[in-house]
Amino acid sequence: MKPKPLQIDYREWHQLFKQVPDQQVETTRYYRQLDDAPWSQYLFPPSTHAVYGNRLLRKLHFDNSPAALRLWGFVLSEGERIFRARQAGMKIIAPMGDLGCVTPLIYSFPNTIAFYPDCLWWTPFLMESHVLFDDAAELGLGEDSCFVRAALGAFFKQAYFPKPDLCIGTVGATCDDMAAVMSEVDRMEIPIYYFELPPRSDVVSDQTRWVNFLGVQYGALTSRLEEVTGAAFSVERFRAAVLKVNRLRRLIAEIKKYAASLGPNPMGAVEMMNVEFAALSYYGDLDECVEVLQDFKDCVQSRAAAGEGYRGQELRIVWVTPPADPLLMNYVEELGGRVVGSEYVINQTTPILKEEGDPFTILAEAQLAASLAGSTAFRVKLILEQLKSAGADGVIISGIFGSSHCPYETIPIVEALRKQNVPVLSFDVVAPGKMRLQSQIYNRIEAFMESLRARKRRHAG
Ligand code: SF4
Repeated sequence: MKPKPLQIDYREWHQLFKQVPDQQVETTRYYRQLDDAPWSQYLFPPSTHAVYGNRLLRKLHFDNSPAALRLWGFVLSEGERIFRARQAGMKIIAPMGDLGCVTPLIYSFPNTIAFYPDCLWWTPFLMESHVLFDDAAELGLGEDSCFVRAALGAFFKQAYFPKPDLCIGTVGATCDDMAAVMSEVDRMEIPIYYFELPPRSDVVSDQTRWVNFLGVQYGALTSRLEEVTGAAFSVERFRAAVLKVNRLRRLIAEIKKYAASLGPNPMGAVEMMNVEFAALSYYGDLDECVEVLQDFKDCVQSRAAAGEGYRGQELRIVWVTPPADPLLMNYVEELGGRVVGSEYVINQTTPILKEEGDPFTILAEAQLAASLAGSTAFRVKLILEQLKSAGADGVIISGIFGSSHCPYETIPIVEALRKQNVPVLSFDVVAPGKMRLQSQIYNRIEAFMESLRARKRRHAG
């Protein structure tokens, strides 16, 4: 099954799914290390996931490749997978606020997985429901905080993920909104280990001090993980985990490169965002995640090599800060745009980790590449690099209505980009159901895309 690249809706995927061989459905499984796990299949059409509550899928457009279907199935089964992990006796660690730095260490412990409660920020959008926001508001986090407050609602509900064996709360040079979630979680008698992130300095000589500081903290965290998992830290297992994480990070970098190729757009922006976010906690199964991304990379690579892709998406965009509402990306694509670069505040998941040397120094050095732990100038540099390497026409920055940390940088970024004569649109994503505000965003996106098209014509002429 190798259909021509198209973006299709969930009904069309429901029909197309009949062509997927039964054997492929039967053998596409997570937790393959478990011998008898008939429940671990995850290849289903989006309509199945919509029936289980992800109502937004009825409105989204999806890439029609089997590789993208596998990716969606893997992403959307994460919640179920974490409950299964608990049933299968695995330890569940929930890091918060560091977005992908500590997970190579967690996965170096046997029978242990990680997930990020932070990532529930898009659940109210996927489910088109305010339930998690309402619960967070009851606990004190209302509309004046980031959508990550949905994580607090989920901790309270005890239905979206099992109670973690340990939470790792990253504090210090991190986000106040997420820190507010952590303080409330702390009151729920859920064990939290606090980990302090120092600011990243753009002065290279300062870095040694912070690497040493973080190294000591990683040592103390490791002792805590030993207690929780009942297993001694093993350098060999750590190196094995690093090899897998590096393979995954290289795959993501390659996929991004192919997605920015000069031919027609070979992949959808929402699928690409799901790929990038795999680098946080590997959706709860590192081994299977690597295989999912390998399959995906092969698909995007073969399309790029053959010059295959969607037609009519010629405006090249770098997207800054991930949109909690994925429909916005579909809308940009409908208007002739494609996402060729991104700065999704997870730059810390991109460095290739050293495969030799002190484990804690390796983790510390990568952590100091964090997007949000230092100056805005660093983020501007990341954005400009992507603009240049992908030959982009403009930048879209999607902030979060009511939040503090990452949107706080929006104005300095806009000013810096305009000084470089880069067209840029910034807006705040609004909570689900705010139709009037959302239609204003749609109008602004439309006007921006028209202005980019006119600019392109002027430059061509
Ligand atoms: S404000 Fe930004 S950095 Fe903070 S929790 Fe929200 S998305 Fe994350």
